[in-house]
Parts: sequence; structure tokens; C-alpha cells
Amino acid sequence: MGYQRPETPKQAWDALLEGNHRFTTGDPAHPRQDIDRRESVAETQRPFAALFGCADSRLSAEIIFDVGLGDLFVVRNAGQVIAETILGSLEYAVEVLKVPLILVLGHDECGAIRATIKAQEGDLQSEGEFIHNIVARIAPTVERSYAAGKKDIDDITDLHIEDTIEDILSRSSLIAKAVKEGKLGVVGANYKLALGEIHPLVTHGEIA
Ligand SMILES: [Zn+2]
Repeated sequence: MGYQRPETPKQAWDALLEGNHRFTTGDPAHPRQDIDRRESVAETQRPFAALFGCADSRLSAEIIFDVGLGDLFVVRNAGQVIAETILGSLEYAVEVLKVPLILVLGHDECGAIRATIKAQEGDLQSEGEFIHNIVARIAPTVERSYAAGKKDIDDITDLHIEDTIEDILSRSSLIAKAVKEGKLGVVGANYKLALGEIHPLVTHGEIA
């Protein structure tokens, strides 16, 4: 049974949803993780999606989407905060690797968002100066959410994912153009740690 790489935004999104369904129902196929696959992708990679997500150890991309070697171009950091290097990595995935989908994946009970809420309440104790750098990048979202009376971490997490996607599309004209041309879909979703489920929040492009 040959593997057909998903070529359209919809095919790529469906493949991720199907893989996540296998994972949540305890029926993973662990596809494309053998020696043949390793050898066949050694020269060139053709991942079908880019994933930008939190570095949380429980958000293991290939496991939760039940995919294999060479399937996902993964970019992660704590709290999935945008930086120029992140935008560059995503542009590389779109322009050079021609992925038809970018998934921005946050999750519930995120430590980085929890830390930013603590900072907002004047209660963040951390010696790491660069931890404060991550917090500073999530802070505008938390401030806006607090100003709107939404202090629940789940609401803030959803808003952070939406803001992150706005940031990607407004700053990278290459990515925005690919969406406009129908070549690329961008999805923002929230991952539920206990259930293992993906909950989509925002979509751009021809996903459905
Ligand atoms: Zn997190």
C-alpha cells in the first residue's frame, strides 16, 4: 500500500485529523517509521504540514497525529511565541518544502501562559532572564483578555492562538500570499492534554 502525500490544504488537514483520531481512540498505525521510510526520505524531505506548537513534552507532534518520519516540519518553543526565526522557519516550509498546511497548536494548562498570567498578577518568580522574554511576548494577549474581563486560562490560550495566527499572516507576506492563492491552509487549534484531542479555533484557506 503506497503512501500518497496529502497535496492540498484539505487533504493535509484531513490526514492530521484522521491520525489524531487513531491516537485518541488507542488505535495508532505508527506509519512510515521503518527503515524503508528512513532510507526513502534521506535525500529529500516532503513533509505535508508544518506545525508550530508549544514545546510541552506532552505535545509530541508525530505521536499525537500518528504520522511518521518526514511527515511534519515541526517548530516549537515554550508557549509557541512568534519570533523572526519562527517566521523564517515557517516561510521555508511553505516556499521550499511546499507544505499545504500550517498548524498552530497550543494546549490547555500551558506553563508559559500560566507564567504570563502570574506576571500579570505581579506574582512571577523566575530567575531566568529569557523566561521573561517569552512572558513579555504573551503579555499583550493576557492584558487584552484581562481588560475584556476574561481571566480564564482557556480563554487566554484560545486568544493567544488567534493572535499568533494574525501575527504570522500580517508579518509574512509570503505566507499570506500562499493562503490567498489557495496553496496553503493555516489552522489554529487547541490540544487537550487529557483527551489527546485537537480542537480547531481558526482556519484560513481552503480547509473544508
Ligand atoms: Zn505550553
